[in-house]
Amino acid sequence: MNKLTDITYVKSVLSRHGFTFSKALGQNFLINPSVCPKMAELCGCSDRVGVIEIGPGAGVLTNELAKQAYKVVAIELDKRLLPVLDETLSGHKNVKVINGDAMKLDLHKLIHDEFGDSEVVICANLPYYITSPVIMRILEEKLPIRSLTVMVQKEAADRICAQPGTRQSGAISAAVHYYSEPELLFKVSAGSFMPAPKVDSAVIKLDILREPPVKVKDERLFFRVVKAAFSQRRKTLSNSLSSGMKLPKQQITEILEKAGIRQNARAEEMTMQDFAAITGCISESE
Ligand code: SAM
Repeated sequence: MNKLTDITYVKSVLSRHGFTFSKALGQNFLINPSVCPKMAELCGCSDRVGVIEIGPGAGVLTNELAKQAYKVVAIELDKRLLPVLDETLSGHKNVKVINGDAMKLDLHKLIHDEFGDSEVVICANLPYYITSPVIMRILEEKLPIRSLTVMVQKEAADRICAQPGTRQSGAISAAVHYYSEPELLFKVSAGSFMPAPKVDSAVIKLDILREPPVKVKDERLFFRVVKAAFSQRRKTLSNSLSSGMKLPKQQITEILEKAGIRQNARAEEMTMQDFAAITGCISESE
């Protein structure tokens, strides 16, 4: 039994340390006892695979990860939680807490220094205010990790996992599918947290791909195209591309024709192959 899902216990530990929740830091702590064991099991950490956690809070997920993984490195931004974690994680010798900002720390160095050549996964209940930037940072930096298992708001989970070419897809879906194979693992109700947020959440797992699903010569251009395509959702793809890429409408018309894409198509209809084809045609036309 994880004591950290016992509301009375958590409240007493937090208040003993004078801790009050910060909305700005996305502090909603898990209190549903079934969620953390499931996340720890499904994230793939083990006696040979280490795990990095972002935002341990009071340590509820950290505790479960420490039971499964040979080593847990938890990055917490809020200094006030350090003495709390000292107390709640005192039973585990395989946990290291680092006080830092997951958006700023050198994660390549951290992985090298803390895990050497061992395999590593990331598992976290992410603060909602940096969900997409954290996920994108981890993917774009091509960290040597196997997978990323994270709790995010349900709506964000749907957008992230949406297959490019479907109605719910957006720039983040295309970016995520370039680097990984995303899967929605399970939903988590708002009442599973203290304090309870306004919306439900979901746990998603991004399995990192060895090779991207499409070959592009210029990755930066590919992501500029994706970003430009979704920059004005109400406009047609050709208008968004023209303004987003700062290219004349006539040139975009020719590029779409060459890539075999309808002139009145919309960004959400584009598959990964379509985005790759547009990128290739723009490269050639420059
Ligand atoms: N893991 C705990 C749980 O599930 O109960 C807490 C999750 S809470 C949603 C998010 C945690 O991330 C908080 O502890 C917050 O202080 C921390 N945090 C917020 N911004 C952060 C950042 N930039 N880097 C690292 N941790 C951060």
